[in-house]
Amino acid sequence: MGHGASCGRPSEEVDFFGAAQSGDLDRLAAALRSRPSLLARSTLFDRLSALHIAAAHGHLQVVSLALDLCVHPDVVNRHKQTALMLAAMHGKTDCVRRLLDAGANIVMFDSSHGRTCLHYAAYYGHADCLRTILSAAKSAPVSESWGFARFVNVRDDTGATPLHLAARQGWRRCVHVLLENGAIVSASSGAFGFPGSTPLHLAARGGNLDCVRQLLSWGADRLQRDSVGRIPYEVAVKRGHVACAALLNPSSAEPLVWPSALKFISELEPNAKSLLEAALMEANRERERRILKGTKNALPSPSRSDDAAIAEASDAEVCSICFEQACSIEVRECGHQMCAACTLALCCHAKPNPATQSQLLPTCPFCRGGIAALVVATRAPAGGDDEEGSRLESPRHRRSRRAMNLSGDAGSTSSLMGSIASSIGKMGRRRTDSSEQVDDKP
Ligand SMILES: [Zn+2]
Ligand SMILES: [Zn+2]
Repeated sequence: MGHGASCGRPSEEVDFFGAAQSGDLDRLAAALRSRPSLLARSTLFDRLSALHIAAAHGHLQVVSLALDLCVHPDVVNRHKQTALMLAAMHGKTDCVRRLLDAGANIVMFDSSHGRTCLHYAAYYGHADCLRTILSAAKSAPVSESWGFARFVNVRDDTGATPLHLAARQGWRRCVHVLLENGAIVSASSGAFGFPGSTPLHLAARGGNLDCVRQLLSWGADRLQRDSVGRIPYEVAVKRGHVACAALLNPSSAEPLVWPSALKFISELEPNAKSLLEAALMEANRERERRILKGTKNALPSPSRSDDAAIAEASDAEVCSICFEQACSIEVRECGHQMCAACTLALCCHAKPNPATQSQLLPTCPFCRGGIAALVVATRAPAGGDDEEGSRLESPRHRRSRRAMNLSGDAGSTSSLMGSIASSIGKMGRRRTDSSEQVDDKP
């Protein structure tokens, strides 16, 4: 029968797949005109359809043509891989998007490792593909049937979540995207890597300092053991990753952890969030410098997560809590401003108390009002000293000046300010040149 993959491939078939691979739309269309059934064919060994081939090579137009001609987006190859998996594997974000628009199923599993398209994107380090798939997962029927959180933490046959794979491969951006979307930071893998490994074990094994940092700042547990009883520190030591080991050493100072439990933080507007994140990474970097001073080798300078967040402070008003950085975050509704580091310290200071179960929401340190939202401070401080009008009418400036004067006193406001300032000190923000500031545990 002419139906199965006959041994002798007709040359037009070879030509057709060649056109899909090179993205030659004209040649492809010509081949299809003479033989429309080609679209349903697959290659002899891997059983790749033209859709697979085009998606893997990032030929968006060919992918679109095939989908427009009713090729099913979920057609699978020999290893039960979909075109979406191949596009995610090769980082072809446009094709990923196109396939998702055509209704490609994100919860398909291949037959070799039981991995989804999300695993593929994570393993091969394509953060943009990850983002695209995750944003589709939020709206797709998947989120109702499966649940978004479950999808983010989907496991392959060996028990590895996408976060395990990204951490193992050392993809910092992927680790970040996954954590931001609710990946469980200390999930232990089943049989993947060394059994019972957490993402932190896997990052320690690869010696990837950026991934270790990320995971720690999302609250990864340094004391969690794998199934042979090792903590990530031991893994890093064994592999000779000195800097990672120093951060993972349980006796080193605790890293500052992103206060994700706070509701208003998780609903933060993206710009304000990245400012705060940059402040957190910066604070932890200070801490690292102190920790790593002991280790012989110089610390490779970490990649900045958001340079813009740290810079451009020059013409803004100086923060009246730390007197160091420019005001970059504004509290709504009161309109008081402070720098990102102080905002972060405020949030970390107001961590929910596990004993009382009450979510102690942080309040504005200037007026003690509730915080409805945190936004990027956009209102530039006007030029002159004697500016009149709307800006001065707001209590903001008088308040913050007052707070500045108060900061030495024993008022209630200043005690709060004092505790924030001390949190900042713990964060390493305060550069005391004289004392070496030992908050490291003995
Ligand atoms: Zn400040
Ligand atoms: Zn206020």
